[in-house]
This record gives sequence, C-alpha cells and structure tokens, in this order.
Amino acid sequence: MADTLFTRIINRQIPADIVYEDELCLAIRDINPQAPVHLLLIPKQPIDMLSNAKPEDQALLGHLLLAAGRIARQLGIDGAFRLVVNNGADSGQSVFHIHIHILAGRRFRWPPG
Ligand code: AMP
Repeated sequence: MADTLFTRIINRQIPADIVYEDELCLAIRDINPQAPVHLLLIPKQPIDMLSNAKPEDQALLGHLLLAAGRIARQLGIDGAFRLVVNNGADSGQSVFHIHIHILAGRRFRWPPG
C-alpha cells in the first residue's frame, strides 16, 4: 500500500497532536473536530478499510478497541464517548488508512446522521 497521510504522521513526516502511542497504534487529535474531544486512533500497519481487513488482523483490531477504552479512561471521557469507523467514500471515509474516530464532550443523537 502506498504511504497514506496517516503513515506520514506515524513516521513524523507531518506534524500532529499525538495524545497516545503504543507499539501498534497511535491516537491524534482530528484537525477538524466534530466534538469537543475528537481523536483518530490509527494502526501503524496500514489497512485501507475495515471491509478489507483479514482474519490475521483480528488481534490488531481487538487491540484498537482496547486502546480506545484505555485512552477514554486516560482522558476522563470513559463515561460517554462514541466510536465511528467510516468504511468507503459514501460513508464519509476520506483517508484510506483504517482509523477509529473517538468522539466525546457533547450529546450525540441516535440514529447518527
Ligand atoms: P474519515 O473521513 O473517516 O476518513 O476521517 C479522516 C479524518 O482525518 C477527518 O475527520 C479529517 O478531519 C482528519 N484529518 C485529515 N487530515 C488530518 C491531519 N493532518 N491531522 C489530523 N486529522 C486530519
């Protein structure tokens, strides 16, 4: 897979506000936040979209969810937050390097728009 915007952030070629990092992923603040807290949790291994993830990605995907919970606790938003994964351009995906949006700090409507 060609380098994505997020790979360049992971490699420190583009600056970002990094709030969490471990051996498999990092979380940055979204440049265009849709809530008072809006993070992007990004695996260092690029997968273009969730629907292309493979069985061998199972541990990584599980790691991301556990990391999301850990980050929420660290930021004190664990009482209420929302995770979003856009899959495909029509869903709103604009960066084709899988990532989980972590949103918090306001009330969210259901169903989502
Ligand atoms: P998606 O539309 O689900 O692919 O999410 C991509 C997200 O990346 C959007 O919410 C953008 O605001 C965000 N984004 C784009 N460029 C940057 C950047 N340089 N730093 C942080 N977030 C970014």
